[in-house]
Amino acid sequence: MVCEFCEILERKSGKEQILFEDQDVVIAVRDSVLTPGQITVFPKKHVPILETVEDSILKRCAVLVNKVSMAVFESFGSGGTNILVKNGLGAGQIMPHFGIEIIPRQEGDGLELAWDGNPLAEDEQELTLHLLQEAFASLNRPDEVKPEEKKVLKQKKGEDNYLVKSQRRIP
Ligand SMILES: [Zn+2]
Repeated sequence: MVCEFCEILERKSGKEQILFEDQDVVIAVRDSVLTPGQITVFPKKHVPILETVEDSILKRCAVLVNKVSMAVFESFGSGGTNILVKNGLGAGQIMPHFGIEIIPRQEGDGLELAWDGNPLAEDEQELTLHLLQEAFASLNRPDEVKPEEKKVLKQKKGEDNYLVKSQRRIP
């Protein structure tokens, strides 16, 4: 499978798609978009999913996403933006290269990205909170996950979890 992001970096399409790049991160306009003005921010390194992106790169991505979002408001007069990550196969990620989509929105543009939540039963809510508290505690400091801690998390979850599946994909 060809990685579209790596191809953009190698400029294989022959079209100008890169809006900005520094040593680690790229901002690009894609061939196929949900709404005009959609922009993608992605790390130059071919890393499959969020959990494999270094924290410093992730922070850089977040700062650039915010700038792009502001630029989209300026350039397209957007009424809002959706910031979207398809993280892992279960989330509909097709291309195994992490990226963040900035999708300009207008009221009544017909794009259905909204969803209604289903109310959780009280015991389900307690269980969810309990499970997440355990996972967070095992990370020590969830605001700054070190690479070695990420590895431990992966090993604990076993061979069949989405992290392992998503990382095994080629390229
Ligand atoms: Zn790639």
